[in-house]
Amino acid sequence: MATRVDLDGNLIKPMTICMIGAGGFIGSHLCEKLMAETPHTVLAVDVYNDKIKHLLDPPPPEQQGGRHPWDGRIQFHRLNIKNDSRLEGLIKMSDLTINLAAICTPADYNTRPLDTIYSNFIDALPVVKYCSENGKRLIHFSTCEVYGKTIGFFLSKDHPLRQDPMFYVLKEDASPCIFGPIEKQRWSYACAKQLVERLIYAEGAENGLEFTIVRPFNWIGPRMDFIPGIDGPNEGVPRVLACFSNNLLRGEPLKLVDGGQSQRTFVYIKDAVEAVLLMIENPNRANGQIFNVGNPNNEVTIKQLAEMMTQVYSKVSGEQPLEQPTIDISSKQFYGDGYDDSDKRIPDMTIINRQLGWHPKTPLWDLLETTLTYQHRTYAESIKRALAKTVAS
Ligand code: NAD
Ligand code: UDP
Repeated sequence: MATRVDLDGNLIKPMTICMIGAGGFIGSHLCEKLMAETPHTVLAVDVYNDKIKHLLDPPPPEQQGGRHPWDGRIQFHRLNIKNDSRLEGLIKMSDLTINLAAICTPADYNTRPLDTIYSNFIDALPVVKYCSENGKRLIHFSTCEVYGKTIGFFLSKDHPLRQDPMFYVLKEDASPCIFGPIEKQRWSYACAKQLVERLIYAEGAENGLEFTIVRPFNWIGPRMDFIPGIDGPNEGVPRVLACFSNNLLRGEPLKLVDGGQSQRTFVYIKDAVEAVLLMIENPNRANGQIFNVGNPNNEVTIKQLAEMMTQVYSKVSGEQPLEQPTIDISSKQFYGDGYDDSDKRIPDMTIINRQLGWHPKTPLWDLLETTLTYQHRTYAESIKRALAKTVAS
């Protein structure tokens, strides 16, 4: 493997990374990148490993002599960080800890608020403590949702200041965090994440913890979440990419919550993990920073996302779109009581550009084409079988 240098031209030494939540969507892509492109070792901690099995299981003997090029550099540790004393040992053995573990699907925030708060706040505490006490570096995954609603949201719909970026662009060191009332339990997740950010920042200020906080803005791509009834519970509600994929695969209209008027910026997972690798390998530039990681050029309303996904899916599957490709549904019907929404999420990119020189590359159409090709290849046959079974019974 070629020698690696950081952004300042210094040699990068191989490191050991304790990655908690490594078996999830982001973790699986980060593990792949670390195995393919770097000499670093990953201690992969999770309760599941299905999404990284291809990295863990040796290939058949006729391929590459039954060994991966990264043989010996990734170990899976099946443990629940809520209650496992092995966690501190793994953090102590590592140079860096990356914490991705969380309940992070909005359908859970108002229906399982206690689990959401415990997972995102209480369970993160020992990780912060062990890193701080043992002098270990921490990259913690927070969320763009800590910004909540934009300031512009509170102006009337036709107010000219709504068009002023000051009223909607989200900036790490300037924007406030604006959540709804307590009875809107949607905000349980954002609030838990915000308090962990404040704790980590305080550990940095008072005890010298070396930390980086990542605020992902809707990272999407293959392996995100699950398809209900196929590799996840029948009644489960994943994030929007998987909800819409599921509808397209089943030939159902896509459900637009409250008309799909909320706006999001979507970034391709492969672009986003480039940013995380830069953080891993450039501690001098990443320590003490909070980074927005998103693609401000890929903004759409959820209605526009549904329309684009419908077109892209038709292209990659060869199937004609439905005559009525979308239907409106109220948030109360879709998510239940206590749901609320972020209106608009445009990340300011000044800090990540300045510190790491990172820019997202992939346009929305292209990333949807790659992702929906993957969804079609992975799930279309199993969905057909499941639908045939339902008709037969
Ligand atoms: P994910 O659900 O795919 O991954 C989380 C992983 O953590 C899962 O594999 C889960 O099994 C594991 N985990 C949860 N609790 C655990 C526990 N107690 N012990 C061990 N493992 C546990 O989610 P993701 O999209 O990969 O997100 C990773 C992180 O990034 C989360 O902290 C999330 O809040 C944050 N984030 C992601 C996005 C995004 O766009 N994907 C947006 C905002 C924030
Ligand atoms: N959404 C939708 N239909 C669905 C799933 C989600 O209209 O089937 C909307 C949801 O109300 C929100 C947006 O899509 O406005 C993004 O939802 P997601 O679950 O991806 O997470 P968020 O970006 O809110 O964290």
